[in-house]
Amino acid sequence: MRKLKIALALFLICIFMAGCSPSWTCSMCGDDFRGRAYYDVLMDREWVLCESSAREYWAPLNFRDFQVR
Ligand SMILES: [Zn+2]
Repeated sequence: MRKLKIALALFLICIFMAGCSPSWTCSMCGDDFRGRAYYDVLMDREWVLCESSAREYWAPLNFRDFQVR
C-alpha cells in the first residue's frame, strides 16, 4: 500500500507540474502550445511565437537566441 501511495503522489506532482508549465498562444499561427516560446523583434512577452513560427520568422538567424525565459 505504501508504494501505491508514493506512486499516486508522484502522479499528482506530474499533473501539477504540467499545469504550471506556461501555455502560450502563438501570435503568428494562432496555435496553443506549451513549453518553449520565442520572442519576435519587439521582445514582448505578450507576443510570442511557437517553435515552427519562430524558425520561419527569424530565419536565417538562430531563433533559439530569442527564447522566452
Ligand atoms: Zn506558430
